[in-house]
Amino acid sequence: MLKFSKLFLIISLFSFIACNNHSKDEGNTEKVEQKEVNLYSDRHYEVDNEIFEEFTKETGIKVNIIRAKADELINRLEQEGANSPADLLITVDAGRLYRAQEKGLLQAINSEKLNNSIPNQFRNPEGYWFGLTYRARIIVYNSQKVDPATAPTYESLTNPEWQGKVLVRSSENIYNQSLLASMIATQGADKAKEWATGVVRNMARNPKGNDRDQMKSIMAGVGDVALVNSYYVANMINSDDSAQQAVGKAMGVIFPNQDDRGTHVNISGAGVTKSSPNKDHAVQLLEYLTSKDVQEKFAGANYEYPVVAGVKKSIILESWGEFKIDTVNMALLGKYNRDAIMTFNEAGWQ
Ligand code: FE
Repeated sequence: MLKFSKLFLIISLFSFIACNNHSKDEGNTEKVEQKEVNLYSDRHYEVDNEIFEEFTKETGIKVNIIRAKADELINRLEQEGANSPADLLITVDAGRLYRAQEKGLLQAINSEKLNNSIPNQFRNPEGYWFGLTYRARIIVYNSQKVDPATAPTYESLTNPEWQGKVLVRSSENIYNQSLLASMIATQGADKAKEWATGVVRNMARNPKGNDRDQMKSIMAGVGDVALVNSYYVANMINSDDSAQQAVGKAMGVIFPNQDDRGTHVNISGAGVTKSSPNKDHAVQLLEYLTSKDVQEKFAGANYEYPVVAGVKKSIILESWGEFKIDTVNMALLGKYNRDAIMTFNEAGWQ
């Protein structure tokens, strides 16, 4: 019995020392602990860094960014599991946010501020992800050759009059995948396949290059019309590089399908990761990005549309005017992503 008590005493003493050391350690780390938030981001635009620096100045929360393609970031989150240091996944497409949510990598956030400032259409109803800006996939045309009155809709790009004149990037690109996913969601797989096949038939060349390259090719006379994201046109028009500027200014701009379902838009948005070690900071950053003055800068610097109503748009977007948006639920862009890829393959869209 005596032996047992001694052993108990020794164990208690050890645990006391261990506990004491542990709380000392905690005290030390608390003193040096830097408030931070870790982003996994697929956004490739200059303005983000400036905005994050301002956020740090205002809040003392350091913003660490790992940049990669959304699919790589999603794989990384999956591999890291509960040990992931990431707090926020930022992408340039609703489809990838949907995919991350499906894989259980995001958590639902209930923020009155976010729910009030971001329209339903641009966020997941349960709070798994939030749109921060949106962009339109528009049609640009050679303003020397094409009469704006005859400018195409998405569907009429497949008409014989555009044979050999359509420029568009590869189907591996998420912007095209989401456009086709929106068609599958609203018109069905058969119609979508018919459309993709029709566009392939009218292509000026096999898809290559990015959105800017399609516009350069219009300028070079390779084709007459192209599908591009709105902010690339605006970026070129406002470029310091005179060659880029000339290309941007030579483009006629059409927001397609104003007489029916509206122009296809996609979001750049973010979701808080399931394992987020700094969840409060992550929500704080999201709320910061949706405050009115930050929205103006965040969206404006890359010529994107702010998701928050009443925020001033950049001058060039103002000059393009209001347009009817296709209100297909953003989550469907993700739901039909795989079908879109399959349809592109079947249609021979490289
Ligand atoms: Fe982009």
